[in-house]
Amino acid sequence: MDKNAKIYVAGHRGLVGSAIVKALLAQGYTNLLTRTHAELDLTSQTAVTDFFAAEKPEYVFLAAAKVGGIHANNTYPAQFIHENLAIQTNVIHQSYVNGVKRLLFLGSSCIYPKFAPQPMKEEHLLTGALEPTNRPYALAKIAGIEMCWSYNRQYGTKYLAAMPTNLYGPGDNYHPENSHVIPALIRKFHEAKVSKQAEVTVWGTGTPKREFLYNQDMADACVFLMQLNEGQFNQLLGSDESASGKFQPPLVNLGYGSDITIKTLAETVQKVIGYEGKIRFDTSKPDGSPRKLMDSTILHQAGWQPKVSIETGLEVAYHDFLKQI
Ligand code: GDP
Repeated sequence: MDKNAKIYVAGHRGLVGSAIVKALLAQGYTNLLTRTHAELDLTSQTAVTDFFAAEKPEYVFLAAAKVGGIHANNTYPAQFIHENLAIQTNVIHQSYVNGVKRLLFLGSSCIYPKFAPQPMKEEHLLTGALEPTNRPYALAKIAGIEMCWSYNRQYGTKYLAAMPTNLYGPGDNYHPENSHVIPALIRKFHEAKVSKQAEVTVWGTGTPKREFLYNQDMADACVFLMQLNEGQFNQLLGSDESASGKFQPPLVNLGYGSDITIKTLAETVQKVIGYEGKIRFDTSKPDGSPRKLMDSTILHQAGWQPKVSIETGLEVAYHDFLKQI
C-alpha cells in the first residue's frame, strides 16, 4: 500500500473502523476515504454502486456492520442477518467490479462452532453448529468469508477476512443492554460507584471465558496484514479446496493469545473503576459460548504481536467512557 493510495474505511465511526483510521493516519497514509451512515447507506445496492464508481478506492477495509452484544443479537436477529448480508454483499461485489487491489473483511470469533476445539483455528470454520444467540450475525459473516474465497477463486481477487476476538477500547458502545460485556460492565460499575449501590449485577454464571483484544492493537494488526508483501499476502488468501484437497479459507484470526473468565473480568473492571460493593451473578441471563479462545498462530507467525494488556486497556477505556458521558 503506497502512502498516498486511496483507502476506503467502511464503518469509520465504529470501534473497529475508527481504530483502523487512527492506525493508518499514524503510519502516514494520507488519502483516506470515509462516509458516515447518513452520507452513504451501505445496505443500498444503488448507493454503493454509485459510490464505488465515483470514488474508485484501491484498498478497502470493510469494518461496517450491524454489531452488538448477546442481548442485542437475541433481540434483533432479523436486522443482524439482513443488514450484514446487504452491507458485505454490496461492498465486496463493488470492490470486484471496480478493481480494488486488496480488501480486508472484518468479522468476529463467533463465526466458529459453539463447541469448536480450543483454541480455535481458522480450519475449524464450518465444522459444527453455531452458538444460537448470535447465529444470524455469524452466518452473515460466514457468507462474507465464502464470498471473499469465491471471488478470489473465480476472479483472482485478493480479499482476506480477519476475525478479531472480543474487542474493546475507545469509541465503544456503552449502551446498558445492547453493548458487549466490557462496555456494559464499565457503565454498570461506574454508575454503582457514583450512586453508592451495594451490588452490581453481572449476567450469567461468571464462568464463561473470553479473550479480549484492545481495538488499537486490532487495528495495527489489520494494517499490518494489508501491508504484507505479495508472497505473504497471497499465502493467506485460501486455497482452492477442490483442487488441493486442503480446507484453507482466506481467514486470519486476530487474537490476544489468552482468555479470562467473566468473573475475573468483572473483578478487574471493579478494581480499575474503584467500586467497593459486591458482585452478584444473575444466572437467569444467558452465558453464551462457554469459551472462545482463538489460535492466532498464523498472525503471530506472520510477525505481529499485541501490545496492550487487559489492565492497561481497561484504564484507557474507562477514561474514554468518562469523556463520553
Ligand atoms: P458474547 O461474547 O457474544 O457472548 O457477547 P457479550 O460480550 O455480550 O457477552 C459475553 C459474556 O459476558 C456472556 O457470558 C454474558 O452473559 C456475560 N455478561 C455479564 N454481564 C454482562 C453485561 O452486563 N452485558 C453483556 N453484554 N454481557 C454480560
